Amino acid sequence: MKTIGSMFSRARHALKRSTSARTHLCTCLLALAALGFGHGAFAADAIIPVVAAENFYGDVVRQLGGDRVDVTSILSNPDQDPHLFEASPATARALQHASLVVYNGADYDPWMAKLLAASKGAQRNVIVAADLVGKKGGDNPHLWYDPATLPKVARAVSDALAAADPAHKSAYDANLAKFLDSLKPIDAKVAELHGRYAGLPVTATEPVFGYMSDAIGLDMRNQRFQLAAMNDTEASAADIAAFERDLRERRVRVLIYNSQATEALTQRMLKLAQQSKVPTMSVTETLPAGKTYQTWMLSQLDALQKALAAGDTNGANGANGVNGVTNAKGKTP
Ligand SMILES: [Zn+2]
Repeated sequence: MKTIGSMFSRARHALKRSTSARTHLCTCLLALAALGFGHGAFAADAIIPVVAAENFYGDVVRQLGGDRVDVTSILSNPDQDPHLFEASPATARALQHASLVVYNGADYDPWMAKLLAASKGAQRNVIVAADLVGKKGGDNPHLWYDPATLPKVARAVSDALAAADPAHKSAYDANLAKFLDSLKPIDAKVAELHGRYAGLPVTATEPVFGYMSDAIGLDMRNQRFQLAAMNDTEASAADIAAFERDLRERRVRVLIYNSQATEALTQRMLKLAQQSKVPTMSVTETLPAGKTYQTWMLSQLDALQKALAAGDTNGANGANGVNGVTNAKGKTP
């Protein structure tokens, strides 16, 4: 499989940043200056104010900090495309009091680095998930779908909370142990799916599920098309034709559909998959209301398992018409 790194660097999220986005950013930088961004140290028994750029990181901080943290998440609407988010004065205001900031990096949320750079003097601990896992702008930015990312973010967050509030270090340590333990069912499900389905061809409308797909060992097709969807640029006629052929000829076992980054073209692909009886599953970029990171990931893995299992029985053949599963462990009887 082709490495996706170079492909991501071709069309950055920045492409769709408009003049109006720059105007918004200027406005909020001014707002920051006026408000005296950052309040620095806080009293030992105070609640720790935390801002997470994305709500799944916010959820992790909440699980690790319990009632010792007050978490504000900026990207939290599962009906909006985070790739189109523009920072506003409200974003800057949310950051005013934060003593801990967590964000994704890798060009997913470039507005956050800009806001933070505008207030270098503030006493604030900043955790960037991309830095923890060695990713940068141009890499697939959906790092929270990589099972290896959250344990690293959790350890960094726990360290930061203990540093800010040493009196409660034992509670943070216990919460971290509990959190890491709670990720084990996700790893077990990934291993199970890998054992059963590694090597099978699948496709997706947008790269959000890419790292999870890699962890399961699926063969992810049509990655250039997905990048165009992510960056809001036009997919080439050849890439569209290849995607349509994969669905019409059922060369893929599942279509993974990003319900949060939709446009006429991706909706058309969803419809074509349904008409062609290619199983589909829906994923989101942002944590849906009422779910934790763990229950969110597990419910999506369950949905993927159902979709892959449906592909076992509905006659989908996989790439090049070669019949079905080729991995050593085979299918369930
Ligand atoms: Zn995305």
